[in-house]
Amino acid sequence: MYAARMSNLPPYLFARIDEMKAEQQKKGTDIIDLGVGDPDLPTPDHIVTSLCEAAKNPDNHHYPSYAGMPKYRSAVADWYKKRFGVRLDAGKEVLALMGSKDGIAHIAEAFVNPGDYVLAPSPGYPVYRTGTLFAEGRVHEMPLTRENNFVPVLDDIPKKVAKAARLMFINYPNNPTAAVAPEGFYREVVDFAHEHTIVVVSDNAYSEIAYDGYRAPSFLEVKGAMEVGIEMHSLSKTYNMTGWRIGMAVGNAEILAGLGRIKTNVDSGVFNAVQHAAITALRGPQDCVKNACAIYQERRNVLIAGLQDLGFDVPVPKATFYVWLPVGDCMAFAAKLLNKAGIVVTPGVGFGSSGEGYVRFAITRPAERIREAIERMRRIDE
Ligand SMILES: *Cc1c(COP(=O)(O)O)cnc(C)c1O
Repeated sequence: MYAARMSNLPPYLFARIDEMKAEQQKKGTDIIDLGVGDPDLPTPDHIVTSLCEAAKNPDNHHYPSYAGMPKYRSAVADWYKKRFGVRLDAGKEVLALMGSKDGIAHIAEAFVNPGDYVLAPSPGYPVYRTGTLFAEGRVHEMPLTRENNFVPVLDDIPKKVAKAARLMFINYPNNPTAAVAPEGFYREVVDFAHEHTIVVVSDNAYSEIAYDGYRAPSFLEVKGAMEVGIEMHSLSKTYNMTGWRIGMAVGNAEILAGLGRIKTNVDSGVFNAVQHAAITALRGPQDCVKNACAIYQERRNVLIAGLQDLGFDVPVPKATFYVWLPVGDCMAFAAKLLNKAGIVVTPGVGFGSSGEGYVRFAITRPAERIREAIERMRRIDE
């Protein structure tokens, strides 16, 4: 019944975990779900209020403009200037997205011919791969391992692949490994992209979720980056707005025009009232972001201290709301946590073959629940 491309989609590796979770739920187990990459904290009040007001205005009830309202695009440009020192022309170098997933899923259609390579991190956000498959491109995985500090080694990419590559996805602060981009990495990427004529897509969804004073840079801060690439960003993680579906692609005007042309044919933009609320988020007080980070930081400390106390050798993440734990067989470990302790974590192999050996904890639950999870883990082996 289905088209051939459907069978090219990777198997849904979380299905087994979902089944086990359903079994536990049926038994009435009090499940601690540390699997989801979705903030448990609500969207700040002033942003919700802004949406409610904008939703009442009939001017906002029509089809939005495809690229986003000029006011929204200016707010994005001003935020990029203030936050990263990156200057953007709001008219040509900013495109509204229905969340960054929208841009990530569609970009390959604009740049990849059947058989072309797309360079994507493994483990990585699964949409880099599926977007490539829909465009009938081939994914070349760039392994992120502890040995390389979870950063792709560009010299390891075979010359033949680099020559036939059209796109490269990079993602720092990284989901799922929680690694940050080391000094000099973006410079290397820009040089590599120039040399091989590759379009770079930097996924910076977690730039604002950072700890201990760490400030994540934008890929576009590097000289020459605007010539080869774009950055996808989003309000989802920064302002707890995953359900609202709003984000942005910024950077090279010609690349954005390509993505925009695909999108014009598949969607009709973001509800104007949501764009108004996003303007309020970007231009308004930012203490809500600081407060959320303080909450995550405490949870991170509780989880890391607990895991270390249990004997795990785990790096302390500087950013994102994930902890990437080396555990050996990841499916077996995730199944054990679920069946013996009612804890859901995500097996690393679901993010690509190089994710084997790890599970991802999302600290999107209160500190007490994380403490409880650690206590339950302690009891498993007793
Ligand atoms: C959450 C996430 C996104 C997409 O989020 P949107 O809600 O679509 O903006 C993109 N990339 C990574 C790595 C993510 O974790």
